[in-house]
Amino acid sequence: MICEQTKTAGIHLYTSFICTDCESIMIKTDTSDPQYRYYVEKLRKVTKPGIYS
Ligand SMILES: [Zn+2]
Repeated sequence: MICEQTKTAGIHLYTSFICTDCESIMIKTDTSDPQYRYYVEKLRKVTKPGIYS
C-alpha cells in the first residue's frame, strides 16, 4: 500500500496492507522528518477511505 509493492510479510490495516519494511521505516523515522509526514499522509488515506474534500 505505502510503498506500492506486493509483499507477503506485513500487517493488514483495515482494507489495506502495510509491509514490514514500511512498518519498520515508520517506526524509525523521526516525526520531524519530512518522510514521516509522507507516510502519515499515506496512512490517512488508508484509514479514512472515501473522505476527500
Ligand atoms: Zn511497503
